[in-house]
Amino acid sequence: MTDAASSTAIIIGAGHAGGELAVSLRNEGWSGRILLIGEEAHLPYHRPPLSKAYLAGTVEKSSLSIRPQAAYDKANVEILSGVRVEAIDRANKCVQLADGRSLAYTKLAIATGGRPRPLAVPQAKAAEDCSNFHYLRTLDDVELIRRQLAPGKRLVIVGGGYIGLEVAASAVQQGLQVQVLEAMPRVLQRVTAAELSAYYARKHREAGVDIRTHVQVSDLELDASGQAVSAVLCSDGTRIAADLVVVGIGLLANTELAAAAGLAVDNGILVNEYAQTSDPDIYAAGDCTNHPNALLGRRLRLESVPNALEQSRCAAAAINGKLKAYASVPWFWSDQFELKLKMVGLSQDYQQLVLRGTPESDSFSAFYLKDGKVIAADTVNRPQDFMAAKRLIAEG
Ligand code: FAD
Repeated sequence: MTDAASSTAIIIGAGHAGGELAVSLRNEGWSGRILLIGEEAHLPYHRPPLSKAYLAGTVEKSSLSIRPQAAYDKANVEILSGVRVEAIDRANKCVQLADGRSLAYTKLAIATGGRPRPLAVPQAKAAEDCSNFHYLRTLDDVELIRRQLAPGKRLVIVGGGYIGLEVAASAVQQGLQVQVLEAMPRVLQRVTAAELSAYYARKHREAGVDIRTHVQVSDLELDASGQAVSAVLCSDGTRIAADLVVVGIGLLANTELAAAAGLAVDNGILVNEYAQTSDPDIYAAGDCTNHPNALLGRRLRLESVPNALEQSRCAAAAINGKLKAYASVPWFWSDQFELKLKMVGLSQDYQQLVLRGTPESDSFSAFYLKDGKVIAADTVNRPQDFMAAKRLIAEG
């Protein structure tokens, strides 16, 4: 057996990044063992439909798997599901699993993604044990939510970002009474221009969603049994009765394993353009990384599927000694009602906004310009504008 054949690559986290990295590693020529270890009891699955088509009940669970088991078998990728990696021992080049096993690696990749940012109110911990209080990150989360989506129920969504609004759109179409509570002055404030926020708020209101901005959630009220949340309490004294509460207020990157192992971490695991961490035998990809992007001229941490996939392919190539710098224009999408929003680039610091088409027609684009150049675009039901903007931004 050659050295290469007796070597082992371990990937921690079987999500979008981990699954892609495992298969790409084989495609790029890794001849040793590949072990993909995931805490969730599922094969890597598509997360975006969890707040879209799967929540709406328009796609089957079977369609969520990114690849069938046969594809991993073909690539000779071994998958350990439902097992958490508890620690990385860099000195002995092994990982410790929650079930007590210790597995040695030649090369390690961390693709641990993130977890929902918890609501910071006094009863939040107690609410996590309630059957009608949910965050939305995993397939298991959405299974619980789906079972509780019944017409007439009062759903309170904390957070008017993409996930909150996607859940709102799906729930109101299923006949629930939906309220969205947003702390900022407008929905989608962190990611889009005021014009887009106003458009989305209007579409939701027309569909029957009650959107309240400038609302600070101060606590949760539990019923007498302590088993269910009965209301969401706001700092202005408002009490909003709820049958179901979904919280979507952002993500915390899962960097603790890396930090405990002494890897450099700063708003994500710090990697270079080849997805290498501060340890030459350890790579990282996906939502958990903070990486440089030469096209944008800065470091950033992204939460998007294209980022997870493309960065994973660079990591797999680098592990095989082929250095391909990761530098893609970030892009993202969101489906709400019949509206297909596709965003490309990063719009922070824009100086000018140019609209093409009209919001009234439900087919328009907003181009963000800085120093006369397009730096980002949000396109609604206009795929051709999205493609053009992506090219413009990539070409500077
Ligand atoms: P993840 O997919 O989160 O995978 C990480 C995996 O690692 C998880 O399965 C986790 O359980 C596992 N893990 C963590 N720690 C350990 C450990 N110690 N041991 C073992 N396993 C571990 N992006 C888009 O581009 N477009 C969208 O429309 C969109 N919609 C979204 C809707 C929802 C509801 C959510 C939750 C996300 C959405 N995203 C969307 C974001 C996208 O899903 C993420 O960017 C993507 O999943 C990141 O992939 P990842 O592999 O880095 O992380």
